[in-house]
Amino acid sequence: MSKELEKHRNTVGNCKVISIKAAKTAFKTPCTPLETTLERNNLPETPVTLYYVPSEKVIIIAYENNDQKWHMDLNIIEKPATFGNYRYFFLCSKCKKMVQKLYLPVTSNIWTCRECHRLVY
Ligand SMILES: [Zn+2]
Repeated sequence: MSKELEKHRNTVGNCKVISIKAAKTAFKTPCTPLETTLERNNLPETPVTLYYVPSEKVIIIAYENNDQKWHMDLNIIEKPATFGNYRYFFLCSKCKKMVQKLYLPVTSNIWTCRECHRLVY
């Protein structure tokens, strides 16, 4: 990749990010909108609304990006862990990999994993 292109690559630090840990807060209020904020590395906090639909294992995220309102279904995977507990992951909507974080760079309006957005550190 040329130096010029490299400069324009999105980095993890300049993306909005949602972790599965942050998303799981919506599990406590199923089928009820939960207003919350997401942390970002270098940028101000991002207000979002999360809406968990247990029957579908989906969290609907509503958010503003590039001065427009958006919403998207985030699929949740539940994996049995030790002692009857579960571990949770997002299913990336593009590559279908199980991941713990989804990212939203300014150049896109959808949340996918780091690899799908070709993010660098
Ligand atoms: Zn992906």
